[in-house]
Amino acid sequence: MTQKHDNFINGQWVAGASYTPNINPSNLGDVIGEYTQGDAVQLDAAVQAAQAAFPAWSTGNVQARADALDKIGTEILARREELGTLLAREEGKTKPEGIGEATRAGNIFKFFAGECLRLTGEIVPSVRSGVAVEITREPLGVVGLITPWNFPIAIPAWKIAPALAYGNCVVLKPADLVPGCAWALAEIISRSGIPAGVFNLVMGRGSVIGDPLVNHPGINGISFTGSQGVGGRIAQQCAVNLKKVQLEMGGKNPQIILDDADLAQAVELSVQSAFFSTGQRCTASSRLIVTDGIYGKFVEAVQARMATLKIGDALAAGIDIGPVSSLSQLQQDLDYVAIGQAEGAQLVAGGARLERTTEGFYMAPALLLDTTSAMRINREEVFGPVASVIRVKDYEAALAESNNTPFGLSAGIATTSLKYATHFKRHSQAGMVMVNLPTAGVDYHVPFGGRKGSSYGSREQGRYAQEFFTTVKTAYIGA
Ligand code: NAP
Repeated sequence: MTQKHDNFINGQWVAGASYTPNINPSNLGDVIGEYTQGDAVQLDAAVQAAQAAFPAWSTGNVQARADALDKIGTEILARREELGTLLAREEGKTKPEGIGEATRAGNIFKFFAGECLRLTGEIVPSVRSGVAVEITREPLGVVGLITPWNFPIAIPAWKIAPALAYGNCVVLKPADLVPGCAWALAEIISRSGIPAGVFNLVMGRGSVIGDPLVNHPGINGISFTGSQGVGGRIAQQCAVNLKKVQLEMGGKNPQIILDDADLAQAVELSVQSAFFSTGQRCTASSRLIVTDGIYGKFVEAVQARMATLKIGDALAAGIDIGPVSSLSQLQQDLDYVAIGQAEGAQLVAGGARLERTTEGFYMAPALLLDTTSAMRINREEVFGPVASVIRVKDYEAALAESNNTPFGLSAGIATTSLKYATHFKRHSQAGMVMVNLPTAGVDYHVPFGGRKGSSYGSREQGRYAQEFFTTVKTAYIGA
């Protein structure tokens, strides 16, 4: 008998109409638990509870807020191994990657515990005599948070923590595929001392919970992370209803390797950011842009490194890459390999489903050569362990190809040249630029986000999170 997990609404655990099994993608026979499916009535109750809690929470004592967030962060960090194991079991990241993500979530709550006490305003001189001007930030209100499946604890954490720190009330709708980490986080929050209604969890499908959440008149803002297609529709709905919206979406992140790069370093960071976490990171390098002089050596060394990768059960020791998270994502990955080949790309490694001792969604990381920026494989996000190589003659061509994409999340360059590194930092059209580092892997206390089709609205994380989660008030004080 698997454990049943309910929604958290107005400080109570509430069962939905049905339950869905949460299945381990490394072992389809392993059911992690049953998670309830909410409905529009439960969602409405959650929004109403958040609205009722907002006046007291938004004007309440900031020390109490800081203490609650600190307590949540402390518990996550103390239980990082257990939470990281749950994450690996439900999403398919390896256990060390899962523990790393849980640690990040704990650190985020600790960071925003401090931010509760650091919100500042401005006093500026008025152009009128005898008048003072004050600029302050106030909480946005009740916010809807919609999260994807690939970072099931870190992304809920990096939305919930600033939302609460800046005095907002929250309704969280996590990805339907991986409700386990969001539920575990909600359970920790439920014991943190935060008043009933301030934080609410409503699990269920995007069409059933996400859509009414976006359109609910009691919601003041939506912070969404997920695909460009869903994000674009949410932006339109928010515009019609004049709601604040923040979208973090996909990537087609370039990794440039120049002739003067340190070969071993370039190979390691390319393999790491293309294939680790099964390539299921919005910041993964899916386009390796390589200059002529290093091309042969680089491609050979990448293939040799790929041959050493151990793909298997996410919970097993010594595994580099776990399974793809779902059957539909695996099918999408395999389809894109075929699309790339049909476009003229040459598959030189991986690209097929793998069998292991347990039935799971395993895939051999794929490397495609002879690709161009016109091909779909280089224009559309695959979101799996699939990388394509674009060969160019020099730095200028590499820069042009790196920016030749509808996306702009993260971009990397491997070079020993200060001149090219400096030029690339300034001229890359991505929100995050990496020099001699993988395109994936970022700090938790600084802004995260992209440009072009990757992001919309203000940045997430670090102090920049206050742009979305607060609204500015200008007060004029006469004599
Ligand atoms: P997705 O299909 O867009 O789903 C994201 C979330 O939106 C899920 O909770 C989903 O619910 C919900 N949703 C679906 N339809 C909705 C609707 N009509 N209204 C409101 N909500 C709706 O994305 P995903 O497959 O979970 O995640 C992968 C994508 O996320 C990739 O594109 C990846 O690049 C992106 N991502 C971006 C970042 C970043 O910070 N830039 C970070 C991580 C991931 P269901 O679970 O029920 O579908």
